[in-house]
Amino acid sequence: MSDLTRLTAADLAAKIKSKEVSAVEVAQAHLDRIEAVDSRVHAFLHVDREGALAAAAKVDKGEVTGPLAGVPVAVKDVIATKGVPTTAASKILEGWRPPYNATIVERLQAAGTVMLGKTNMDEFAMGSSTEYSAYGPTGNPWDLGRIPGGSGGGSAAALAAYEAPLAIGTDTGGSIRQPGAVTGTVGAKPTYGGTSRYGLIAFSSSLDTPGPCARTVEDAALLHSVIAGHDPRDSTSIPQPVPDVIGAARLGATGDLTGVKLGLVKEFAGDGSEPGVTAAFRDSLEALVKLGAEVVEVSCPHFQYALPAYYLIAPSECSSNLARFDGVRYGLRVGDDGNRSLEEVMSLTRDAGFGPEVKRRIILGTYALSSGYYDAYYGQAQKVRTLITRDFQKAFEQVDVLVSPTTPFVAFPFGSRTSDPYQMYLADLFTIPTNLYGGPAVSVPCGLSEGLPVGFQVMAPTMADDRMYRVAAALESAVGTFTPPSL
Ligand code: GLN
Repeated sequence: MSDLTRLTAADLAAKIKSKEVSAVEVAQAHLDRIEAVDSRVHAFLHVDREGALAAAAKVDKGEVTGPLAGVPVAVKDVIATKGVPTTAASKILEGWRPPYNATIVERLQAAGTVMLGKTNMDEFAMGSSTEYSAYGPTGNPWDLGRIPGGSGGGSAAALAAYEAPLAIGTDTGGSIRQPGAVTGTVGAKPTYGGTSRYGLIAFSSSLDTPGPCARTVEDAALLHSVIAGHDPRDSTSIPQPVPDVIGAARLGATGDLTGVKLGLVKEFAGDGSEPGVTAAFRDSLEALVKLGAEVVEVSCPHFQYALPAYYLIAPSECSSNLARFDGVRYGLRVGDDGNRSLEEVMSLTRDAGFGPEVKRRIILGTYALSSGYYDAYYGQAQKVRTLITRDFQKAFEQVDVLVSPTTPFVAFPFGSRTSDPYQMYLADLFTIPTNLYGGPAVSVPCGLSEGLPVGFQVMAPTMADDRMYRVAAALESAVGTFTPPSL
């Protein structure tokens, strides 16, 4: 029997269905792997051993069926899981066990998946390296001295370290795609509103998008198809059928892109990407042309303002969303000794409970929203957002998808970007425009630079998620998948 942790989700689902292996064996193999490597990787904040084995046993008894019956999944710790600790990697939520499941989690259960546990991340999903987790960073399985990306670094590292075949992430400015890029895994951000935010701890509500992480494009599409679709409990959920992402991934895997037009964003050239990233991206573009695709240069003149606009909009929404963590309703409470005012207790709780990056964003966002500054900052950023959306719409009149590197640099060593927030924010240079627009985008591994993975990003029009899967699967068929050196 081959090592069960090396199989794809598609293969595992087939083997469990045909009873070649049991769901319990599959769960146990992954729990053993976690036991063996996670003290070094630290992809998980919480492993739900008993819950996983119980869920797997139900599959083996035939009590639970579904397209991914028995396939293990790891869930980012920003998503509410009933009775299972959910901290968003923050001290302020330490010990919180949600009384309900997120819609995504309900759908994962309905599909028969087996949840292994909750993955590490930057606190409240703010960051690009997991270094802002209140519980310590995650190591990149390619080099444990380097970051696995962020904010969903735990989910991506769990895949690359063979601790889970599937994982859930959330993408507000790139937190699914950039970790995918730097760990050599696939990360897809669905269309905003294509996946439910019910039960997702809100960071920036107009941007937050849950989505699939996997080691292959087909697996990402399989996971996408079970978590996506309209949810009446989320007012921004789109009441339309889910695009046929699985069919598109399979079509792409045949390696034929005849007639597909790829848009190369002119303004992204000379963007300061590392030479090895640019080289891997260019080679991949050539590979796609060999499959029949055509490359067209397009202009998106407002993309250069995406980063500053995002770093006003996201902190503004975060300052409002995080007001609920007041020491009264959830988790941590500090200084409540009977002699202090409610305000003092709130202030002490928030001071002790939030880390430095979260505080920075709350302060920035509160400032940007304050009277007298609102129009100059938040209002202006919203106008830029509209212009960026128009750039996308115009580009998609000429091409089917846009392509770029996912992030300008490969996994960087711990500590190398924490002293200057701007250096960290640059990781989001190519991912953020999509979030402001609301379209789908995927990162697929496309090569190595100095032995570390490089990601290729495919951006598609809203509700055309299938298109990005087709192109990503075609690229994967040309360049293959990337396996880290063994841990
Ligand atoms: N790196 C970005 C940020 O720090 C993206 C975060 C995300 O997508 N959750 O805000």
